Amino acid sequence: MEIKHWQTWRITVVAMTLLTSVYLSGCQPSAPTNATVSTLRTTGPFQTPESASPGKEIPHSAETTQEQKIEPVPEQKVEPVPEQKVESVPERKTEPPSVPVDESDNNPAPTPPADLPQTPIHPYYTLSGTPPSAPGLAMRVRVFNEEPQKIAYLTFDDGPSPETTPRILKILQDEGVKATFFVVGRQVARYPNLLKAEYEQGEGIGNHSYSHDYRLLYRSPEAFLAEIKQTEELMFKTIEIRPKIVRAPGGTQGHFHVDYYNALDAANYLIYDWNVSSGDADASLVPADQLVQNIKNQVPGKDRIIILMHDAGAKVTTVDALPQIIQYLKEQGYSFGVITPKVAPILFPGGFHG
Ligand SMILES: [Zn+2]
Repeated sequence: MEIKHWQTWRITVVAMTLLTSVYLSGCQPSAPTNATVSTLRTTGPFQTPESASPGKEIPHSAETTQEQKIEPVPEQKVEPVPEQKVESVPERKTEPPSVPVDESDNNPAPTPPADLPQTPIHPYYTLSGTPPSAPGLAMRVRVFNEEPQKIAYLTFDDGPSPETTPRILKILQDEGVKATFFVVGRQVARYPNLLKAEYEQGEGIGNHSYSHDYRLLYRSPEAFLAEIKQTEELMFKTIEIRPKIVRAPGGTQGHFHVDYYNALDAANYLIYDWNVSSGDADASLVPADQLVQNIKNQVPGKDRIIILMHDAGAKVTTVDALPQIIQYLKEQGYSFGVITPKVAPILFPGGFHG
């Protein structure tokens, strides 16, 4: 009976084990409990930061991103740099806006020394090339070209000028005649293409100083010659010639003395005044009819004439009168010539000082 009891107890144990086993297999949740997970985590080989220090606030990744986020650099407001004020170069005070065309003595030159020779030098040169002779004067012999019996040299001073030069050139071309332009250096610097146009049309080119300022020019022969050279360099740059014909601003009378003639001759220049004046410098604007009349009054009795006119912005009536002047001279039988060093100069009568 003792064995039976032991067997019963054994069977009971087995049966209970089986029942428990069946029960467990059917009802035990497969997911581990929190406690189990926690244990696994704490004992597992891979500790996540979160589990390692749960109390510590781990910055949100987004926050991290935000922190590291490079603040979008607002478009750099490039302060508009105020345009650098380039000091505008003021027009040189020595250069008045327009070339004075008044050849009269309203801008008197220094008075020449009283002990210089007063000997008349008219004619300046003979047509055969004999130089004038006077105490202290030493000028070379020249050879001049033959000329028609009646010849007119139209001359225009003080240009080039955009207002008048193109119009004058057009008239000369239309009339089939030539003229000579005594240009001012500072105008050449401004309008080199106009000088080029004059030259390319076959007109004569002469030198009329750089500044046209009597006070500067007539301080000394050296000062005068320096301006002639200055303008000559400009002309050479523009038309590649070095004209050797010169007209003194205001004319030689009252300006030149013997040293001026010698200085110009030594540098191989020839100086030209005029024996007929249009009178276009007598006032700021002389009516065209008056200019024509002035010329008609002076021409009779002269076979060789050099006519003074101006090529300057203000002298529009000169341009207006030009066709009539040319017409009149043609009617009087004049040919039209270009001044070159082969043309005998005409100088004012009356001596070195006038
Ligand atoms: Zn002049």
